[in-house]
Amino acid sequence: MVFPFNTLEDFKLDLTQEHELFRKALREFVKTHLEPVALEIDEKDEIPREVLSKMAEQGLFGIGIPEQYGGQGGDHIMSVILSEEICRVAPGVSVVFGTNELFSIPLLLVGTEDQKKRYLPEIASGKAFGAFAVTEPCCGSDVAGIQTRAERKGDKWVINGRKAFISNADLADYFVVLARTAPPPDKRLRFLGLTLFIVEKGTPGFRLDQRYEKMGLRGSHIYELTFDNVVVSDDNRVGDEGSGFLITMETFDRTRIGIAAQAVGMAQAVFERAFNYVHERQAFGYPLAFFQSIQFDLVEMLSKLMAARFLTYFAAKLADEGRKEYTFMASIAKFYATEVAEDIITRAINLHGGVGVIRETGIERFLRDIKITQIYEGANNIQRLVAYRQLIRILREKGLIPEDVARVVT
Ligand SMILES: Cc1cc2nc3c(=O)[nH]c(=O)nc-3n(C[C@H](O)[C@H](O)[C@H](O)COP(=O)(O)OP(=O)(O)OC[C@H]3O[C@@H](n4cnc5c(N)ncnc54)[C@H](O)[C@@H]3O)c2cc1C
Repeated sequence: MVFPFNTLEDFKLDLTQEHELFRKALREFVKTHLEPVALEIDEKDEIPREVLSKMAEQGLFGIGIPEQYGGQGGDHIMSVILSEEICRVAPGVSVVFGTNELFSIPLLLVGTEDQKKRYLPEIASGKAFGAFAVTEPCCGSDVAGIQTRAERKGDKWVINGRKAFISNADLADYFVVLARTAPPPDKRLRFLGLTLFIVEKGTPGFRLDQRYEKMGLRGSHIYELTFDNVVVSDDNRVGDEGSGFLITMETFDRTRIGIAAQAVGMAQAVFERAFNYVHERQAFGYPLAFFQSIQFDLVEMLSKLMAARFLTYFAAKLADEGRKEYTFMASIAKFYATEVAEDIITRAINLHGGVGVIRETGIERFLRDIKITQIYEGANNIQRLVAYRQLIRILREKGLIPEDVARVVT
């Protein structure tokens, strides 16, 4: 046994030629269509529509959506490659893929055939965009504490409440929204009684309110949403009544691998830039890379980057294999990758000296971007909690921890 896995074989990453061809083609696409506008996206806080159209033409919004629903198919590793390569150049753009996934995954997990046919082909083709509305002014980490309510009236539901920090709400046509539909049976079971619904843009009573200005991931915007007697049909309910919390968590378990991949892409970008710079820039008559402390920096940055990449791809591989362990690996990959990426970015800025903090150099923006990856889709402390609890659950199932101990520590 290789704790907490079974054998060394578990650590095998089966990357294929298809994955590599996809990465190469994507890098070419990103270089041609995204790189020339990356700084402008950060400066103007706007993604040009032509960029999204080009991505749609390329079929990129269909990655991860099965072919039968108009997508390109592809496994979790493909989605990781997509996030990584886009974040290497323009991290704000990858949030569009992230929110599309947050909308599509609950439908793929538990949606009806009609919901999948109605919404997924539009998302996959880039004709429409999705968003996921969970967080509220009262509660982010404490998802079960949300106060938005949905009340059943015959075969309809009436939603009332407010959401906060909802990414791409201005771009999105369709939202998956979490609301309380029944009071919790008791304080320990607050996660029961929550349900997910699809709400379409333009539904009476549903509106976007304040847009928050944020430090990074610019081009993607976050909004407050208000639901004022918003009526949706029971056909818009995603999954069973009361299952919303568990579906939300299962969705985040998958999408947080994408956040780890965002961090890997950003770290890769700045590492390459710093590596080239210290071999060109001269100081005291030598290239900076002549000095050993600079060499140490480079090697330490690269080792952290490689470890983060391995954890991220490993989590994606476990998800593709349907292994239970993917849930705690996803959390570990998310907090590890986003935290070491911050260190790599800081060092890359330092290695650039003064030009590292100049906007036009295009490096400081990654420090603003990476900060957000440590907070959204489950702040990193929450990832640590999730990773620990899920690890104990798996050890319990394998009979590797005494039952009474497991009960006390979780
Ligand atoms: C740019 C951006 C985009 C976002 N997009 C979306 C979106 O599209 N949809 C959506 O629903 N939400 C979205 N969010 C919200 C995001 O998911 C929350 O901000 C996040 O879950 C943290 O919640 P919070 O901000 O309420 O912080 P809090 O829950 O108040 O936490 C504050 C701090 O306390 C720590 N903490 C909380 N509880 C514990 C605990 N039990 N133990 C130890 N530490 C703890 C947290 O780690 C954090 O550091 C977005 C946020 C941002 C910043």
